[in-house]
Amino acid sequence: MGRDANIEVVARVRPSKKGSPNLTVSQEESFVEVYAPREDYQGEINNRKDKHTFGFSRVLDPGISQEDVFELVARPICDSALDGFNATIFAYGQTGSGKTFTITGGAERYVDRGVIPRSISYIFAQVAKRAAELVISVQISYLEIYNEKAYDLLDPSHDTKSLEDLPKVVMLEDENGVVHTRNLGVHPARSEEDALNLLFIGDTNRMIAETPMNMASSRSHCIFTMQIETRKAGSDTLRRSKLHFVDLAGSERVKKTGVEGTLLRDAMYINTSLLFLEQVIVALHERSSGKSRNHIPYRNSLMTMVLRDSLGGNCKTTMIATMAAEDVSLPETVSTCRFAQRVA
Ligand code: ADP
Ligand code: MG
Repeated sequence: MGRDANIEVVARVRPSKKGSPNLTVSQEESFVEVYAPREDYQGEINNRKDKHTFGFSRVLDPGISQEDVFELVARPICDSALDGFNATIFAYGQTGSGKTFTITGGAERYVDRGVIPRSISYIFAQVAKRAAELVISVQISYLEIYNEKAYDLLDPSHDTKSLEDLPKVVMLEDENGVVHTRNLGVHPARSEEDALNLLFIGDTNRMIAETPMNMASSRSHCIFTMQIETRKAGSDTLRRSKLHFVDLAGSERVKKTGVEGTLLRDAMYINTSLLFLEQVIVALHERSSGKSRNHIPYRNSLMTMVLRDSLGGNCKTTMIATMAAEDVSLPETVSTCRFAQRVA
C-alpha cells in the first residue's frame, strides 16, 4: 500500500565499532533483523530474546558514506522537487541514532555534510546547468517546533531575544482551506552560498536557543524548507514546489518512573505529535488504497499543518528510520522499525 501514497521508508543503522551481534541488515533483501529482549524483561540481553524481522523499501549499509546517502535517497527527491512536485524527507529515530547527522551532517568534517547542504549544492548546480531553458528561484525558511509552539530559526531577533520572547509562528486556515503562515520569514537564496549561509544561521540559532530554555534538540522538530519556483524560458507558466527536510524529535518512549514536570510535558507533546504524523500518513494510505475516504487529520498538530500540501498525492515522501545497534538501544530500535512498518 506504500506505493500508492509514494512513501519510501529507508533504514539507516549507525555504525558501531564493536559490531552488532544482535542486529543484522541485508541490503540485497532490504530487511533488518533484530534480536531484542522480551518487552517485559528488565536487564541484560540474554537468551530471553525475540527475533524481529522488518522489511524496508531500502536498507543502507551501516558503512555508507554521506555522499551515497544523498545519491540514493535525497537526489531523487531533489529531482522531483525541480520537476515541480512537493517532497519531504524525514529522519525518525531515537535520540543519538543519527537523525541530525543524516539531515544536517557532522559539523567537523566536510565529508560528513548531510542531506541538506548536499541538496542545496545539487539544486544550485542544476539551476546553473538549466539556465538556458529554465528560470529558477529558491526561497528558504527554517522552522522549529517545540511543545506545539513554532519558532522561526531565521528570525534576526534571535541575536537579542530569548526564544520565549520571539513571536510565535502561527498557522491559520481560511474558509477555503488555505493555510496562511504568520511570523515565518521566507528568504530568497540567489546562490548556493546564500542558501548554505541561511542553513548555518538557522543551525546556530537552534543551538543557542537550547541553552537558556534548557531545551534539548532531541525534543524539538526542525523543518528546513526550500520553495522552488521554475519558469520555462519564453513561457509565463510558473511551477512551484516545496522541498522539506525534517529532523524529527527523538522517538524514544518516556519511562513512566522518574519523569515529571517539563520533561514529561515535552515527552507528551513529542509523542503525540509523532502520533499525529503517523495518523496522517496512515489516513493518506487508506485513502489512496480506497479503503476509506476519511478526512486527513492535518489539523491535529503544527507539523502536519506545515506539511499538509507535501504529503501524499503526487508528493514524494521519504522517511529515513535511523537506528542504533547497541544492545541497550535495541528495544527502541524495534519500536522505530515498528513505526516504519506502520507508515510504509
Ligand atoms: P540524533 O540527531 O538522532 O539525536 P545525531 O545525529 O546527533 O543523533 O548522532 C549522534 C552522534 O552519533 C553524533 O555524534 C553523530 O556525529 C554520530 N553519528 C550518527 N550517525 C553517524 C554515522 N552514520 N556515522 C558516523 N557518526 C554518526
Ligand atoms: Mg539531533
